[in-house]
Amino acid sequence: MVLNARLDHRDPLVFDTHELGRRPGALQRLTRTVDAPKDLGLQGVIGVPEGAPVELELRLESVMEGVLVTGTARAGAEGECVRCLEPLEQQLEADFQELFSYPDADDRGRPVAEPGDDAEDDEDRLFVEDGLIALESVLRDAVVLALPMQPVCREDCPGLCSVCGARLADDPDHHHDAVDIRWAALQGLAGSLEDGEKDEMSGDGPESADAAEKQEK
Ligand SMILES: [Zn+2]
Ligand SMILES: [Zn+2]
Repeated sequence: MVLNARLDHRDPLVFDTHELGRRPGALQRLTRTVDAPKDLGLQGVIGVPEGAPVELELRLESVMEGVLVTGTARAGAEGECVRCLEPLEQQLEADFQELFSYPDADDRGRPVAEPGDDAEDDEDRLFVEDGLIALESVLRDAVVLALPMQPVCREDCPGLCSVCGARLADDPDHHHDAVDIRWAALQGLAGSLEDGEKDEMSGDGPESADAAEKQEK
């Protein structure tokens, strides 16, 4: 099963806790810059481009039931302003704290089955596996929480004209006459109808004259 695949110590988001040891209170600080994994952020809204550098500052603390990880991730996020649709960049700082339990003891001191045995119970729990911890899901959750759901290029971005879609930031005096664009379209239509009527009327004369002549014959 993929879920229980062994952690790969070469994965940049996998950290080794062997050096930290299991003595409660032991502390290890480390920093690592990793390439952003795919789809890090809010898909289609804003996120860290794949491969962009993500700076991680971590504090690993050995506690009774496992390893408590406290950290900060810093990266540049890219997205699109929800108002004017222009591309935007934003510095992201995401804090997180997560407990990785030893598989042989849970945080309430109950004996615990192997991770993965009870999928429902383990869903939200993270484990130290063979002395390794995988930070990817923690990083993903933290980044999503730290990103704006509705990013704007600037707080007072005026967005787009609701009538013609022009960028209002480029053209602050932009406005339309009170005439609604749909009404303007109707007026255009009315104009062309009038023209048509005139044509018909002007053509009407000779035609009826012809018809009159034919009738006379
Ligand atoms: Zn904008
Ligand atoms: Zn407009």
